[in-house]
Amino acid sequence: MAKIVCVLYDDPVDGYPKSYARDDIPNITKYPDGQTAPTPSAIDFKPGALLGSVSGELGLRKYLESQGHTLVVTSDKDGKNSKLDQELHDAEIVISQPFWPAYMTAERIAKAPKLKMIVTAGIGSDHTDLQAAMDRGITVAEVTYCNSNSVAEHVVMQMLSLVRNYIPSYNWVIKGGWNIADCVSRSYDIEGMHVGTVAAGRIGLRVLRLLKPFDVHLHYLDRHKLPDSVEKELNLTHHTSLESLAKVCDVVTLNCPLHPETEHMINEKSLKNFKRGAYLVNTARGKLCDRDAIARALESGQLAGYAGDVWFPQPAPQDHPWRTMPHHGMTPHISGTSLSAQTRYAAGTREILECYFQNKPIRNEYLVVQGGKLAGVGAHSYSAGNATGGSDEAAKFKR
Ligand code: NAD
Repeated sequence: MAKIVCVLYDDPVDGYPKSYARDDIPNITKYPDGQTAPTPSAIDFKPGALLGSVSGELGLRKYLESQGHTLVVTSDKDGKNSKLDQELHDAEIVISQPFWPAYMTAERIAKAPKLKMIVTAGIGSDHTDLQAAMDRGITVAEVTYCNSNSVAEHVVMQMLSLVRNYIPSYNWVIKGGWNIADCVSRSYDIEGMHVGTVAAGRIGLRVLRLLKPFDVHLHYLDRHKLPDSVEKELNLTHHTSLESLAKVCDVVTLNCPLHPETEHMINEKSLKNFKRGAYLVNTARGKLCDRDAIARALESGQLAGYAGDVWFPQPAPQDHPWRTMPHHGMTPHISGTSLSAQTRYAAGTREILECYFQNKPIRNEYLVVQGGKLAGVGAHSYSAGNATGGSDEAAKFKR
């Protein structure tokens, strides 16, 4: 029988919800490219419940215990003596969400001799040292597509809120003001602007589709070119370098995974290619950007605004400059963990576990690493190597 260690974020400060704002959520069974939403044999939770926090347990306890397995759930993941570290010695599976990632570094993997699989309940497995997983023959799987559309909604929301200066204007209301001139002296329309996405995978393409009705000019950079029919339908300009995309875009959004090729792709040097006053929205991964270069670009006016929900490390230490830099619209990492998304990735996690325990193949599109090499979405969207360096700084959040 297996021991499964599941690292989840803390419950709400006022306790686990007893009721919710809405009584139901739409039932999404298929994604835009025809891929089906997760299909576990059953679920033991009500769709729309809070599943990603410790008491929600991703809805897995009944299923796992009925099969004789042991489930350990904790939010204590950082620092040398964390509960996660204490449980690794006999763990067979580790599950965590990118919002509150269990950084599975080579050091942690070495402490877990029985570890066979690391599951990302969500999308984006950069918190695992993929090279170390390949070297040990550990399977890494994620729930591809589960929250791609959720994130795309957040991207569009944050683009509009930066360009239209929404957050400062909202704050004037809270402060009791009616300061029209203060609000509008940084407010523009997105109509007619050039908007570009770095990566046009599931999220990036969705963002392009959602933006089309705003009558903007759309651009993308991706190592996989989109079909001509899609380029034509959305009137897309394809770029083969970040420099060429950044030079013409008023708004840029990052939608590629973090892997050795993309780490710190936005830095002091590449920011010089951006138009002065460009907006940057990053809901992909914090480490795609050089943290201090972003803060400096906002201070100098090279960037007019920065928003997103991803930081490095997570949780972000109290003194992380993105908490206090000017003209930002950051949220904690939430875009992919709406209650709607949680329903899908909890079901997807169960589907992956059912396949694993029944010795059935895990869907190819869910695989990041298998059999010592990148597989599935990992082979399509990642490069081999490790991007977890510096993640031990997450322990600073507690101090
Ligand atoms: P996807 O696999 O469908 O798309 C990724 C795209 O990135 C692919 O088209 C790939 O070709 C492209 N790409 C990879 N390396 C590139 C490079 N060097 N240059 C240009 N393009 C490159 O994945 P997705 O569902 O669109 O998700 C993308 C990423 O978004 C995830 O890996 C994750 O890091 C992040 N994400 C964040 C949240 C959140 O809650 N904020 C949720 C889901 C995903």
